[in-house]
Amino acid sequence: MYLLLFTESFKNTFMLQRKEFTKHAPEIINWIDTFFKNIENLPVKSLVKPKDIYDQLPTKAPQHAEDWEQILDDLTNIILPGITHWQHPNFHAYFPANSSVESVYAEFITAALGAQCMIWDTSPAAAELEEKMMDWLKDLMGLPSEFEGCIQDTASTATLVAIITAREWKTNFQSNEYGVPNNLRTYCSSQTHSSIEKGVKIAGMGSRNLIKIGVDDQMRMRPDLLEKAILEDIENNKIPTCVVVATGTTGTVAIDPLKDIAAICKKYNVWLHVDAAFAGTALLLPEYQWMIDGIEDADSFVFNPHKWMFTNFDCTVYFVKNVDLLLRTFEILPEYLKTKTRGAVNDYRDWGIPLGRRFRALKLWFVMRGMGINGIQSKLRKHIQLNDYFADFIQQSDHFEWVTDPILNFTCFRYIPSRKESTKTINLLNKSLLSQLNQTGKAFLSHTLVDDKYVLRMVIGQTYVEQKHIDLVIQLLKELALKIENDYASNK
Ligand SMILES: *Cc1c(COP(=O)(O)O)cnc(C)c1O
Repeated sequence: MYLLLFTESFKNTFMLQRKEFTKHAPEIINWIDTFFKNIENLPVKSLVKPKDIYDQLPTKAPQHAEDWEQILDDLTNIILPGITHWQHPNFHAYFPANSSVESVYAEFITAALGAQCMIWDTSPAAAELEEKMMDWLKDLMGLPSEFEGCIQDTASTATLVAIITAREWKTNFQSNEYGVPNNLRTYCSSQTHSSIEKGVKIAGMGSRNLIKIGVDDQMRMRPDLLEKAILEDIENNKIPTCVVVATGTTGTVAIDPLKDIAAICKKYNVWLHVDAAFAGTALLLPEYQWMIDGIEDADSFVFNPHKWMFTNFDCTVYFVKNVDLLLRTFEILPEYLKTKTRGAVNDYRDWGIPLGRRFRALKLWFVMRGMGINGIQSKLRKHIQLNDYFADFIQQSDHFEWVTDPILNFTCFRYIPSRKESTKTINLLNKSLLSQLNQTGKAFLSHTLVDDKYVLRMVIGQTYVEQKHIDLVIQLLKELALKIENDYASNK
């Protein structure tokens, strides 16, 4: 029956109904192809000023259909200059949101199918492909076999889901019915992502009940301080509810010691959520599975294929050990959503916050099949090697230094002037260096603070990055360091 769809007679009706598609699709594909081919010539970070784009757009929506030629021209001339190119090989800022040709293909088809995959009935293939993709990833990443997973829109959502589930579990599902007590404590390190605080606030637990635990010299949570905080809380009639471990902090990719923290969570009966949003992708490499040593005692785990796994935004993978707790927390069942298959299949609307869901499993399937696990692994290893190469340059340079140890595809570094200067002055020099670097349009890096030091973050995670791109950054850094030294000399 499905083959019939594509025979000539069926094809004709299909084409008639969608004739606009085949008429203009080649132009769209051509536009994308030109974009891909020229991306390296575009400024990585958009250089437009506020309102530059807005002011070029008409005040009112068009009454009549416009020409596709005109629409695509405006796309090129008005919109493109205002895009920061996350897919440029010299995008090294924040964390990547990389993509791949395989993922783009999937997005075409996802859009064409236009399925809303809230429950199994509304597209059984979407639910079952999602289930299978979770099995594949669990197996590849060395996660415990009893974990069950689903796709969420972002890590922020997944962490919120974890915090709310912990809240319900700890209050015997009373908070959902009667409201939230004001003594439920959540713990994370001082370096953890802002989504934890946001999650605690939205969950109604209060940001004052989020306790930030001190870190060691590599920015990792100190288990001794965690245990101390928990004991103090118990003493004061607070209820230790949830600990969030960062497997790769956002600032410096610090890996919290999961095993030691897991033992503490077990001892005090606290929910343990692992946030591996960025670094989780490295678990596809067996040599990095040490990062989650102790995972069998975790209750939930999140990572973002939409960061480093060649799957374009958005796609977050969320695993839980006890799916019943998740379902009891989020389940709803209005009459109009009752189905005959309930219980026999996964209705993913009960696994998180939104009711409606995109068909995101398709892009994971295309990426894993189209690239092969070997292909994915060799790209990840290449990024890590390129980072070793970059980190060596920093360490050997007289003008730069590591601030924390390089890890995976990440180096945290700063410029150091040849003369002795205060931290404040060094910070200003680094700020100026970064801004000048980004203004070249040739590369884009971002910064963070480590203690009181302003530091630059170099992340090498773009799908098509090569050594020549890293050499370009090295070149720019050398030139800018020299310029700063010279400006300095002439000011005196
Ligand atoms: C990026 C990041 C997040 C947030 O990810 P979103 O998917 O954008 O919500 C959370 N935690 C860590 C450690 C991250 O690096």
